[in-house]
Order: sequence, then structure tokens, then C-alpha cells
Amino acid sequence: MPLVRPLWAALMDLAAERDCGGCGRPQPSGEPLCPDCDGLLADGGPWRTLAAVPGTPRTHAVARYEDPVRTMLIGYKERGRADLRRVLGRALARAVAGTLETGGAPTTTPRRPPVALIPMPSRRKAVRDRGQDTTARLAGTAARALREVGVPARAVSALRHARAVEDQAGLSRQERAANLSGALRARRAAALAGAAVVLVDDISTSGASLAEAARALRAAGVPVIGAATIAAARVRM
Ligand SMILES: [Zn+2]
Repeated sequence: MPLVRPLWAALMDLAAERDCGGCGRPQPSGEPLCPDCDGLLADGGPWRTLAAVPGTPRTHAVARYEDPVRTMLIGYKERGRADLRRVLGRALARAVAGTLETGGAPTTTPRRPPVALIPMPSRRKAVRDRGQDTTARLAGTAARALREVGVPARAVSALRHARAVEDQAGLSRQERAANLSGALRARRAAALAGAAVVLVDDISTSGASLAEAARALRAAGVPVIGAATIAAARVRM
């Protein structure tokens, strides 16, 4: 019975996935997160990134970037915890709602403008390594969650890299700014006409990437009302 062992191993993997994606405690409920960790993704914010970089759009995050939220995001992006996408996507939707509420987008007029969520583009290597664009998928899940509560939202991959950029980790504030300057280019700008445009990402750190994204969209005639991330890290200035 050559199939039995791989099947058994696969089923064991499924079972292992049901440890809480934040704190790692076993989850008898089968939910991806325990109630404590799930509660951390309720809108406990806003955690606003300290505007380290001029031009950083106003950013709303629902959690602070520290454990166990950090573990959840790494689990989803790097360790194949696809089961976390729904809870993280909903958390991102709550962050977007926070941005819309404080960003001057009309939320009570009879004709609410459509909302466009623009995922920060992933580096090609990251997409290759992960087998998918995790940020774009989170944006899609967040848009769906917003539509479920009546907000006409959709995710639009409207940014791409104009040139290769280095991984930002380990770079100083000045190095990050130089690494990112002119790094992004807008596309599909016509599809964004009339929409309330919100940049989305999993984490905001110095705001340098978000500032570059807002610049690139502005250069294409697309104003950005703000940004939303699941978590915000406070960075050393
Ligand atoms: Zn937990």
C-alpha cells in the first residue's frame, strides 16, 4: 500500500497545522488561532507607524508588530500556514476600515465610492520562494471581507517594481530611502479613477515603501487616501 504512508503524513501535517498560529498552543477547536491571539487582531489600534520618512501616507494598523502577531505573519508568509489567510485578511479589512473612517472618504453618502486596495508589490524572489504573492492574496481576502459588509472594495495590483530593490531588512533609514527611490511604477491607473485608493501591506515599519508607493501612484494621477497594514512596527528613528 504505497499510498498509505504519504496520505497518513499529509493528514498528520493537517493536524499539526491546527496549533494556534500565534502562540503555538494546541487548538482543539480547529480554528487557526486561539481566542487570545484572535483577540489581538481585533482593532486594538490604531498603531500608527512613526512617520520616519516624509511622504508616508497616514497608516492605520490593528496590531503592534510583536509576538505573537509577528509569528502569525511569518507563519502565513514563510511557513505555509495558508489557514491563517482568512483571519489575517479580515484583520487587514478592519485596518482598511480604520483608514477609510479617518481618511475623509465618504462612508455615509448613498453612493459610496468604490474602494481600491493596492497591495504593496512583492519582490519576484519572494513570490518564487513562497509559490505565491502573499500580500496580493491578503488584499483579495480583505476586499472580499469588506464586500461582505457592503463596502464595494476590490484589490488591484496597480504597482510594480521599476527596477530591482534589495531586501530592506538590515538597511539603515538612509539606505532604505536610497534603495526605494523611484523603485515603483503605477500601472492600470485608469482602473482606479473615482476610487478611494488605500495601500495595503502586512507590516509597516519606517513607512519608506508606503511613501514610495504613494509617490508612484500620485505621479500617475492617482491620489492615495491612506494606507492600512495588519501590524505596525515602531522603528528606531
Ligand atoms: Zn494563540
